[in-house]
Amino acid sequence: MLSHIVYLSDSTNFISWSLIKDILLSSDENNKNKNVTGILFGHGINFLQVLEGDETVIKKLYKHIAKDERHQNITLLDFGPVAERKFSDWNMKGFNFNNLPKEKQQHILNKYCDAGEEFFLPNEKKSCLAFIDEITQL
Ligand code: FAD
Repeated sequence: MLSHIVYLSDSTNFISWSLIKDILLSSDENNKNKNVTGILFGHGINFLQVLEGDETVIKKLYKHIAKDERHQNITLLDFGPVAERKFSDWNMKGFNFNNLPKEKQQHILNKYCDAGEEFFLPNEKKSCLAFIDEITQL
């Protein structure tokens, strides 16, 4: 059954774009072989990832990723069936807030970040899911 897993974690090191690229490099082929799609956000010390695919396959992949020493404090936010994939074009899309056009950055800041000044990934389920939906449409 087509399902998704959404989790948050803390990086063990400050997240640079090259760390995300490293992860994408190893994820792309692996996810393609497993017919897994998704998105990986990384900012500051927080990752937010969506894995989409067959329920059994993504559960196994999630357990595998959870063992990776590059992150810790993994919090499962959502797991369950989905009607369709949100990221069907991406075996794993990397997302960098700083690469967004300025007006889109400001929109995200105003909507998700308290002071509207500095970007932080949301840290609870409802706003994470809303944030993911919003980013998907940008
Ligand atoms: P190996 O490449 O042999 O790695 C074994 C362990 O070594 C890893 O668990 C990790 O702790 C460490 N390691 C590996 N590479 C590095 C490195 N460059 N620097 C430091 N330590 C390293 N993999 C996927 O296939 N799909 C995903 O969607 C996916 N998402 C991820 C999201 C996050 C936030 C993180 C941190 C990792 C993700 N990975 C993903 C990577 C995954 O954890 C494995 O590293 C990868 O699948 C390769 O698995 P392997 O068994 O060949 O492990």
